[in-house]
Amino acid sequence: MSTPVLAPLAGRTYEIRTHGCQMNVHDSERLAGLLEGAGYRRADRGGAPDVVVFNTCAVRENADNKLYGSLGHLLPTKNATPGMQIAVGGCLAQKDRTEIVRRAPWVDVVFGTHNIGALPVLLERARVEQEAQVEIEEALQTFPSNLPTRRDSAYAAWVSVSVGCNNTCTFCIVPALRGKETDRRPGDVLAEIEMLVADGVQEVTLLGQNVNAYGVEFGDRAAFAKLLRACGEIDGLERVRFTSPHPKDFTDDVIAAMAETPNVMPQLHMPLQSGSDTVLRTMRRSYRSDRYLGIIDRVRASMPEAAITTDIIVGFPGETEADFQATLDVAAAARFAAAFTFQYSVRPGTPAATMPDQVPKAVVQERYERLVALVEQSAWQENQRLVGTEVEVMFADGEGRKDAATARMSGRARDNRLVHVAVPEDPARRPRPGDLARTTITYAAPHHLTADAGITGLRRTRGGDAWEGRRAAPARPAVSLGLPAVGVPAPLAPAGACQVG
Ligand code: SF4
Repeated sequence: MSTPVLAPLAGRTYEIRTHGCQMNVHDSERLAGLLEGAGYRRADRGGAPDVVVFNTCAVRENADNKLYGSLGHLLPTKNATPGMQIAVGGCLAQKDRTEIVRRAPWVDVVFGTHNIGALPVLLERARVEQEAQVEIEEALQTFPSNLPTRRDSAYAAWVSVSVGCNNTCTFCIVPALRGKETDRRPGDVLAEIEMLVADGVQEVTLLGQNVNAYGVEFGDRAAFAKLLRACGEIDGLERVRFTSPHPKDFTDDVIAAMAETPNVMPQLHMPLQSGSDTVLRTMRRSYRSDRYLGIIDRVRASMPEAAITTDIIVGFPGETEADFQATLDVAAAARFAAAFTFQYSVRPGTPAATMPDQVPKAVVQERYERLVALVEQSAWQENQRLVGTEVEVMFADGEGRKDAATARMSGRARDNRLVHVAVPEDPARRPRPGDLARTTITYAAPHHLTADAGITGLRRTRGGDAWEGRRAAPARPAVSLGLPAVGVPAPLAPAGACQVG
């Protein structure tokens, strides 16, 4: 057999297309780090990459149709580009495995959620053997944080505390695809945060499918509260957030740790999913609405300024008008600052997919619109309460789409609300992304706040320095080998969040 003539690896370019939740966004940073560690470089915008990686999501409706549509679109480009490779990873790859190369035989590599570290080797093997490589592992091979990471943000980072989930919510495919919960040791998490901070990061978001269960694997149910308190000891760490908590496992020691640790932000994104106890039972979520509201009451008693956000599913199988009314009642009582509302849709492979009494689409749509209207109203009212108050903003890169037109700069308040702030034009007095300042809210909309009264107390931070350093030397390698995993801060609630947690 003749050996194929291969283009040299060095200088090959890649593009990663990420679907789904923060877990995938974070995994994509690692995929980028792995590829750059192997000699690839990120393709220029609009350029034709040598490798396209799809990091897929199995939670969204029609996720498979969308993937095969995108793969079909890429086929002519692949045919016209010698040596181009396509890889598919993530939850859908874990679920569909060989089905992907059967339906799209021009795919070169399929890898799962447990072996993302194998991507460069699989690409190389596919290149040498000129044959598709499908490799899916049933169990986690390496804790993802031990892989190289391409750092997207100079001053904010995701940090995984656990992967997988021990729950069995009937609408959720995550346990089947990400496996049982694996916890990182607190010392490893804290060491990663310290390294990040040493590198200019000043905000971390602790990430897990169910952060309140953190410690279950090593037998310490108080581990998450202790971890929050330990974050408070890290010099230079300005802001700590976490996602997602689970009402079933949420304990008062976490509320106390949040309230008593100054750098843990007054913000809670806690999925409700339904306000009906009957529906929660069929979802196999073992808390009830009174427990959920009790947690919120206690959070507000300890942190009156806390912003509470949530995820809600409308039209779960069997949901009656009375059940839906219960969701409206809980949402009204909870006074959410924002909610990610989802219309239930069948996810093959989940228990709910085959439940009787699927709710007709028109009914789901009508309920969904009523819920969105209620949440908008409460978010607006909550935001209006802030007009005239002073908030601390950490300025951000790319948070305000209209910043250039409005001459404002956007950032996040301590409670993670998005604030568009009028800032001086003079570079000496203008904040950089990562810098902190105080400002007074002058206007409230349902999804953002505006502060046109100027800023006071501008604080030049190490995060701002890190941002500036990167801008001045963009060629500086952004990959750390087996070290921190860095991303962008979570918005008020996780954008594009899947229905998990
Ligand atoms: S919804 Fe969240 S808690 Fe429930 S099974 Fe999925 S990941 Fe676990």
